[in-house]
Amino acid sequence: MADKSRSQSTISGCGMFVAHLPAGYILSKLVIKRDAVYRRWLLGVALVCSVLPDMDLAYFYLVDQRRHAHHGYITHTPAFWLAISAVLSLGLLACRKRDWLIFVAIGLLAIFLHLIMDTVAADIRWLYPFSDRSFNLVEVPALYQPWYLNFVFHWTSWIEVAICLLAASVFGWECLRAKQGQDKYSPPPTSQ
Ligand SMILES: [Zn+2]
Repeated sequence: MADKSRSQSTISGCGMFVAHLPAGYILSKLVIKRDAVYRRWLLGVALVCSVLPDMDLAYFYLVDQRRHAHHGYITHTPAFWLAISAVLSLGLLACRKRDWLIFVAIGLLAIFLHLIMDTVAADIRWLYPFSDRSFNLVEVPALYQPWYLNFVFHWTSWIEVAICLLAASVFGWECLRAKQGQDKYSPPPTSQ
């Protein structure tokens, strides 16, 4: 686990590029039962929440003018999403919508998966607000320009490729099963 005090020869601020959504899809396949009542809606919430923390990129580009790494924003801290989830849960309980708590649970799970994946190569403040110390697993050396090539050429990008391939395989398998299910229940062609 790397400390946040880093040398000039390493960079931070990217985390994962493209694997968040595929990872959210794999997560949904692991935790949502096939006969779940709100299955499609749960899948939708898992996919949206798997990329939700990165919505702060709008603030990063439009307001902050790229002055601070967006992984340092409060939207990339577990405490922020725990607080939001607590408020939503209390609201649902107050409205007697206990069944809908499953949406909060799967959303929070997808967001934590996002933060765990970002922790591979970006600084995430897991202990905020108790500590401002940030954590990451791997220091990415600054060798190339533009900056994102450092992440593309680093071995951690293979984790992203593997996640994307796995998600594509699961999706393909699901489509195949669905088609086989349709063929099974469709009537045989009538002979002339
Ligand atoms: Zn992120």
